[in-house]
Amino acid sequence: MKKPGKFCATYRVEDGKQFRLRDFDPADTGKLRSREQATAALEKGVAQLSELQDKLYAQDRWALLLILQAMDAAGKDSVIKHVMSGVNPQGCQVYSFKAPSTEELNHDYLWRTMRAVPERGRIGIFNRSYYEEVLVVRVHSELLKNERIPPSLITKKIWDHRFEDICAFEKYLTRNGIIVRKFLLNVSKKEQKQRFLARLDQPEKNWKFSIADIHEREYWDDYMGAYEDMIRKTAAPEAPWYVVPADHKWFTRLVVAEAVVDTLEGLDLAYPRVDADKRKELEAARKLLMGNKQG
Ligand code: ATP
Ligand code: MG
Repeated sequence: MKKPGKFCATYRVEDGKQFRLRDFDPADTGKLRSREQATAALEKGVAQLSELQDKLYAQDRWALLLILQAMDAAGKDSVIKHVMSGVNPQGCQVYSFKAPSTEELNHDYLWRTMRAVPERGRIGIFNRSYYEEVLVVRVHSELLKNERIPPSLITKKIWDHRFEDICAFEKYLTRNGIIVRKFLLNVSKKEQKQRFLARLDQPEKNWKFSIADIHEREYWDDYMGAYEDMIRKTAAPEAPWYVVPADHKWFTRLVVAEAVVDTLEGLDLAYPRVDADKRKELEAARKLLMGNKQG
């Protein structure tokens, strides 16, 4: 069995030139055979993440932005719930990007993103993101019309221009100390069907069902094409994609947890040093507390 902590490297793409989605099996479990085999590793990952986040928060210099993209029912919500289960909610911000509002459509597409970028010391999670601008908007290119872009700027090159701008934006974030990690939860069409059926069959899952999701499924191949091109054009060493197998949720969570731990371990995280003046202040505080006989 592979040592825990190493799975995520298999799914990491930082140079997209040769990337082909079909080389990545949604049902892969990295030779683990059951949820039970992954449990201990996931628990360890969650504990490590909790410690690292504490330092990230105390140090207050770096921020980590995790971007989740996927087809419906691939498990974005469950990744957020499980991977972040040990994390202090004060240091974590989850932002879900829905179809843009009228106000948002009156601006450039990164406008709403800027306001959601995590503060220093925080982990920010984008549940969908500006990548929808080269995914749903590409698959349904009539959506471009709502964006009120001057017609002369809507050319065949628009997607390549967007990829370029997104790469530049992610470089900009990185150079500001906001580390970007991107996850495509790679679910198969077959498994998606099973999960939609479960949403129909199980009363406590009914609320998650949306007929729109079924219609979107008809565009499966177009989405796969758009994902592939997106990863080819936007995978970079400073902002890699992880193409995470998503047919087995327990494995998805493990891989994402590992990737987050790996990233935080790569930073120079440490609790702020206590200098001589601060030490004196702490000593004085101790004397004050101890000198107070009343309580
Ligand atoms: P769940 O998996 O729980 O259903 P969700 O992320 O699919 O969560 P929904 O409210 O169902 O949330 O869907 C959000 C919708 O918003 C998606 O269909 C997505 O494609 C769409 N969306 C997000 N960003 C954009 C965008 N920039 N332009 C157009 N549509 C967008
Ligand atoms: Mg949805």
